[in-house]
Amino acid sequence: MDVTNVNKKGLPKKSVMRILNRAYTTDMHFRDGRIFGSMCTEPHQIARSSHAMFFETNLGNPGLCPGTRVLEAEVINMISGLLHGKKVAGHIVNGGNEANITALWIARNNNRRRKKVLFAKSAHFSIQKACDLLGLTPVTVPMDRNYRLDAEILRKKISDDVCSVVAVAGTTELGAVDPIEEISEICAERCVNLHVDAAFGGFVLPFLEELGYPIELFDFRCGGVCSISADPHKMGLATIPSGCLLVRDTLKMKRIAVRTPYLTSEMQTSLSGTRASGAVAGTYAVMKLLGREGYRKIVKRCMNNTEYLLNEAKKIGFEPVLDPPPMNILCLKTKRPEKICSELMRRGWVASVAVNPRSLRLVIMPHVTRTSIDNFIPELKRAYKQWSR
Ligand SMILES: *Cc1c(COP(=O)(O)O)cnc(C)c1O
Repeated sequence: MDVTNVNKKGLPKKSVMRILNRAYTTDMHFRDGRIFGSMCTEPHQIARSSHAMFFETNLGNPGLCPGTRVLEAEVINMISGLLHGKKVAGHIVNGGNEANITALWIARNNNRRRKKVLFAKSAHFSIQKACDLLGLTPVTVPMDRNYRLDAEILRKKISDDVCSVVAVAGTTELGAVDPIEEISEICAERCVNLHVDAAFGGFVLPFLEELGYPIELFDFRCGGVCSISADPHKMGLATIPSGCLLVRDTLKMKRIAVRTPYLTSEMQTSLSGTRASGAVAGTYAVMKLLGREGYRKIVKRCMNNTEYLLNEAKKIGFEPVLDPPPMNILCLKTKRPEKICSELMRRGWVASVAVNPRSLRLVIMPHVTRTSIDNFIPELKRAYKQWSR
């Protein structure tokens, strides 16, 4: 097959589909239950069909799609409701990276003299990208022994040249939640912007709270929180790409506005221009269908499975980094996480590596069932015997 050129004549549809099928079957799929190393999961059936229905819609030119615009506004309202926001501004974007970059873009434009962004080493790499793009200076704040941003050190480090603090509600590696109530007070006192990255936790923590798990406040109930990102395409079971950025002060959002003369709208306040809207419809549909009760059940099942996997891992000889794990992410102490990962990969199982601290990282998403855990345990044991002694 000549892959470098567009062929002179079109191929028969059958041949094109054969190529696609080959690629598809070469890929791994969540439903096989072998992926323990991803924060995404198999989207809900209703999200998939709704996504397909709206594939031609472009929210970047909203005058053409007043219907989809209402869907987006409602998704933003629903997510804002989960996070206790009142009349906040928001966008559905491509994911946590774009949401975080946009949040810091708004913060920078709100006060261009301030250059520093403070965050813990556990923050997502998208914060690095944002600093680089926006000409801001990243400054890391040490963590406490539970791998949370140390608020006391932040209090000493914060100064008038800080553009924003970024706190994480559910770190990518450990699912740890920074002490956001305290951080929020410090930021409010010093009039410093605070962005909360709840890309993963945004669709977990509200339901853990409803289920009675002990969680600390992390959302708009903390007065100093200016913006929050939360990804529907992770624990929200929406189709990819679906991220959400919420901004408390609707006026602040306008700081990134540009005029869009050739479009149906006057202004645009998003990084993307043309925006795929399938995922917006998918997010709307799955959120409406599941409701709080549906998400609560899914989160509960993931937490039960996490606990089950932890107990089985302890029987093998592993110890967790955080016990109990704060969310459905489990990091197991080992000196050679890469070796264990590649041994698992060789046998068709996907785990991942955490670096802070070095450990084997397992994400127990909704596609990870009790049965897939039972099939995984002997593999984990095998890899442990090979590499952990
Ligand atoms: C996943 C994640 C991101 C990045 O989100 P994408 O959707 O992959 O762009 C950012 N922050 C946190 C805490 C995450 O877990």
